[in-house]
Amino acid sequence: MLPHIQALETYQGVDPMEVMAERAGIAPDKIIRLNGNENPYGPSPNVAAALGGYPNFNYYPDPDQRTLRRVLSGYMNVEPERIVAGNGSDELIDLLLRMYVGIGDNVIVPSPTFGMYSFSAGICGGKAIAVERDDNFEIDLEAMKAAITPQSKIIFLTSPNNPTGNIVPEAQTRALLDTGLIVVMDEAYFEFCGDTAIPLLADYPNLVVLRTFSKWAGLAGLRIGVGAMDPELAATMMAMKPPYNVNLAAEVALISSLEDTPGLLVRVKQIVDERDRMMQMLQQVPNLTPWPSRANFILCQVPEGRGQEVFDGLCSRGIFLRYWSSGRLKDYIRTSVGLPHETDAVVAAFAELCA
Ligand SMILES: *Cc1c(COP(=O)(O)O)cnc(C)c1O
Repeated sequence: MLPHIQALETYQGVDPMEVMAERAGIAPDKIIRLNGNENPYGPSPNVAAALGGYPNFNYYPDPDQRTLRRVLSGYMNVEPERIVAGNGSDELIDLLLRMYVGIGDNVIVPSPTFGMYSFSAGICGGKAIAVERDDNFEIDLEAMKAAITPQSKIIFLTSPNNPTGNIVPEAQTRALLDTGLIVVMDEAYFEFCGDTAIPLLADYPNLVVLRTFSKWAGLAGLRIGVGAMDPELAATMMAMKPPYNVNLAAEVALISSLEDTPGLLVRVKQIVDERDRMMQMLQQVPNLTPWPSRANFILCQVPEGRGQEVFDGLCSRGIFLRYWSSGRLKDYIRTSVGLPHETDAVVAAFAELCA
């Protein structure tokens, strides 16, 4: 086996509900699951109806994604030739890395950020150069540029960033695009924030914008994401992707979701309002610092040296949030924004555990 594959550390995804329930010794319907930034309201009601009535699951999906690219071009507001749909945006990250990163190459990531970029770079035999964000988790532009080596192939930006919740200012995006490297702008949480790099596509053929239907549209379990990019780059990605990468159920769900965009955006608004309510409540908790967020989660800083203890206390109460246990975030816990009663339970638990 290739040594860089043998040396890989598994990407820690979120566990199923039953597994969490068993660990806490609590009934699955009593568990509070806010560790994956999933949508607490579920998919559009259109989705179940469309899937139930769809007659053609015995056929393969269209390898050229004709319908998908047309529908997604409307959603992204770019030409269909710029669009590639993926089995989640995770697959598009993987495809991009396989297009540009070989053994010994690297990608530049402002740290902390989403873990898939460095994980997928490792699968290609490359590595991520982590450039520390400043004290406010803003990108250190000069350090980013200084980190670039002849082996650097891609810069990954995330806006709003997971897990810190802040956005990338356009001036920074432009400055990093001006390096000439491929810049991937991951907008997984776009709908909660409204800020996008899409208009920059016209000026920069080295820009790729990623979105997903996992968070705002509640389709995490069906796996569908989308990339918008230079048409030539899109053509190459279409040619090298697995032919049937997006399954037909995901395609049917996507189309019926977009037909209910207004309904889904009502829920997005509810989540954003709930985030702001949760933020206000968390700000009242002694010894806890919640970081302002433009997404559907809030990063919370607990008292120094007590991250693991607070996280364990949450788990034993049946509250599952996201914790990293080492490095700069070892005293931080990220909570997704869920339903109002879940907010109340999370805030009450933090208040007890941080006292
Ligand atoms: C959740 C998340 C994704 C994953 O999206 P999928 O479409 O479910 O693969 C990508 N990027 C970021 C920053 C995320 O937080």
